Amino acid sequence: MSDITLWLPESRTVIHQALGKGAEEAAELTKILARCLIQGLDASDQKTGVPNLSALADELADMEATIEWLFELLPLDVDTHNSRAGRKLDGFRRWKAMLEAHAHG
Ligand SMILES: [Mg+2]
Repeated sequence: MSDITLWLPESRTVIHQALGKGAEEAAELTKILARCLIQGLDASDQKTGVPNLSALADELADMEATIEWLFELLPLDVDTHNSRAGRKLDGFRRWKAMLEAHAHG
């Protein structure tokens, strides 16, 4: 039995494009997150002069819009998404408290 299978692209045009935009915007968000890590939030793009923090806000907004669009288009369970996101955010907040306690401990 072959481990090679036939893959075909998503056939629904709008969903195909929305998935592609999701990947593109995720990559743009990844790029500015990396720049903020290696240059700092207070630095600016040397070519455009745009502050890293402003660029991060733009890409977070783009990602947020893309996520909302995907939830509009795809048959996803919004309640499951919301409860998962809530648990994730709660975990981030508890982690923040742990990191702060560690830094001051
Ligand atoms: Mg973008």
